[in-house]
Amino acid sequence: EHATRISEELVPTHCSFCGVQCGMNLKVKDGQVIGVEPRNYPHNRGSLCPKGIVAYQQASHPDRLLYPMIRRGGKGGKLERASWDEALNYIVERWQRIQAEYGKDAVSIYSGSSMTNEKCYAMGKFARAVLGTRHIDYNGRLCMSSAAVAYAKAFGVDRAPLPLTDIPEANCILTVGVNLAECFPIAMQWVWKARDKGAHLIVLDPRETPLARTADLWLPVRPGTDIVVLNAILRQMIHDGLIDEAYLRERTNGWEQVREEVESYTPEYAQKISGVPAARIVAAARLYGRAATSLIMHARGIEHSTHGVDTCLACVNLALARGQLGKPGGGSMMVTGQGNGQGGREMGQKANQLPGYRHIDVPEERQYIADVWGIPVDELPWEGAAATEMVHLMADGEIKSTMIACSNLMVSLPDNKVVQKALHNLDPLIVVDFFMSETAELADVVLPTTVWCEDEGTTTNLEGRVIKINRAVDPPGEAMPDWEILRELARRMGKGALIPYQTSREIWEEVRVASKGGVSDYYGITWEKIDEQSGVFWPCPSEDHPGTPRLFTERFGHPDGKAKMFPITYRPAAEEPGADFPFRLTTGRVVYQYLSGNQTRRLGFLNSQAPEPWVEIHPHAANQLGISNDEIVRLRTPRGSMQLKALVVPSIRPDTLFVPYHYGHAQAINQLTNAAVDPTVKIPEYKVCAATIEKLSTA
Ligand code: SF4
Repeated sequence: EHATRISEELVPTHCSFCGVQCGMNLKVKDGQVIGVEPRNYPHNRGSLCPKGIVAYQQASHPDRLLYPMIRRGGKGGKLERASWDEALNYIVERWQRIQAEYGKDAVSIYSGSSMTNEKCYAMGKFARAVLGTRHIDYNGRLCMSSAAVAYAKAFGVDRAPLPLTDIPEANCILTVGVNLAECFPIAMQWVWKARDKGAHLIVLDPRETPLARTADLWLPVRPGTDIVVLNAILRQMIHDGLIDEAYLRERTNGWEQVREEVESYTPEYAQKISGVPAARIVAAARLYGRAATSLIMHARGIEHSTHGVDTCLACVNLALARGQLGKPGGGSMMVTGQGNGQGGREMGQKANQLPGYRHIDVPEERQYIADVWGIPVDELPWEGAAATEMVHLMADGEIKSTMIACSNLMVSLPDNKVVQKALHNLDPLIVVDFFMSETAELADVVLPTTVWCEDEGTTTNLEGRVIKINRAVDPPGEAMPDWEILRELARRMGKGALIPYQTSREIWEEVRVASKGGVSDYYGITWEKIDEQSGVFWPCPSEDHPGTPRLFTERFGHPDGKAKMFPITYRPAAEEPGADFPFRLTTGRVVYQYLSGNQTRRLGFLNSQAPEPWVEIHPHAANQLGISNDEIVRLRTPRGSMQLKALVVPSIRPDTLFVPYHYGHAQAINQLTNAAVDPTVKIPEYKVCAATIEKLSTA
């Protein structure tokens, strides 16, 4: 036994299964990851949730993609093993032909955010500098792009303003559309600490989630009507004299317009629209408004909406009206979902952004990045299509070929018929992944890449803390990191000098320079400093700067140093219930699965807990329809129908249905969700559409 233990090695790294990015030690023996041990990192202090405990099993999973594949015999043919040379040459030959005939924008990149910062940066540079295409975007568009834009508008900076470890300082926590206990279990320990110290908890959610069951007040809001409740809480606080007038005067612009806007949102009006009892709205205003330090946490429940940006801004208005931004434990906090959701949107793979949060349409910011990359600025493309728009360009034939990395569009995009048409149109469709996904099954070329246990680099967690990912084992078979795949493609395209990296550290050194002086300034963050300080918060403009865990203590990011407040008007969801579709359908996560489920549906313990989706329905609604618990029913929306098991639970509003979204093929709920998007950021309205539910015998 002694000999066995000596031959084991512990490699410090971080879980990849959500934006918390918990620290962990991987146990390695004979070149295999064999388990996980606690790592006392500041934001998780050794704890891991069920996903984190088994995440390591991905590395040696028998389903790993081990070698490149090409579909032989055209679209109806079979994916067969190919050499790297054959696969890469095939892609380059096709891309060059397409771009010569149809222009550079006929090829696009659809990237992801569950990759290291170094991979994300290389994706953006490859698309814009090597391919020269306008069209690169990433799956964070579907995640919380609305919150990112709201914070940029209000604060001039898109980042959670405070670390998780600040949360226990709050005397009141208002959560808005965030199922924190299931989606970010380890972040919950900081909420429990606040509760232990006496903090009140208010939960605004259509479902009585595990978090809501422990709350002082649950506000069971009709999906899509959160703005009404938030504005009504603010109005009540004004009437009760709970506003910090001095803070508003000194640190914000726009308050008077907000005050005027919310005046018509009486508790009674809010009850009529949202279904939340007026008395609970008044109680929430007093509980939240009287707390010395109060924190709002919000996530996809309000961000997946055609008015996602506005709803986040309504949260921000509340926090600013109480003078909370910049206080330890106070303010508002977006809870980023994907593993590297924060870093992924800062590295320059977003349709409208260059590295360091530089805007692609600002001449001096374009010039800076062109100089870092060593290309003429007039060769740097302008803004391209958002991910949700890119799919339509594929379906319409404008984009001829796309490389999809780390994303499973067949499960994650709404209104699946358009997605299927888009993917079938592409020739070639190239998918880079480590497991075969529903999207990869349709690909013409599949390229095997690495999982986090095999990666070296950094990610940025939901706090804005830059952390170090360490390589524990070598990739299996012929799999290689995405950035090496890009390097090999660039070399074959005669542009190897643009992606010259031999190590991911070389990419990191370039990221530091590319982000220097930008909003998300990483220049002072060295890999050594990350280890020494257990992560470094951006902005960190110089090597002797400690980083910035808490933002806005004195100034906001706008040139005048003040926050901007915006009057927010309620607008109904894009699709409201009616006679044929009387329910509101909403979607979300469960604790045992992650994103499209392509990673977690393969891990036995996780999958056995939640192997298939279900539709939650309230007992009153179920009784009226004669539906029993566990009965297979038909769920229909204007886009189609599917059969699901009914879960009859009192923890959901009687006018609302809920389905988890982690499942593929015939069980992918996004076949039924609405593709309408927020006009500013193009995020889809996953969280509400009209639906009906029927017994199979009467369907
Ligand atoms: Fe992994 Fe998130 Fe669970 Fe932490 S909370 S172990 S990062 S899935």
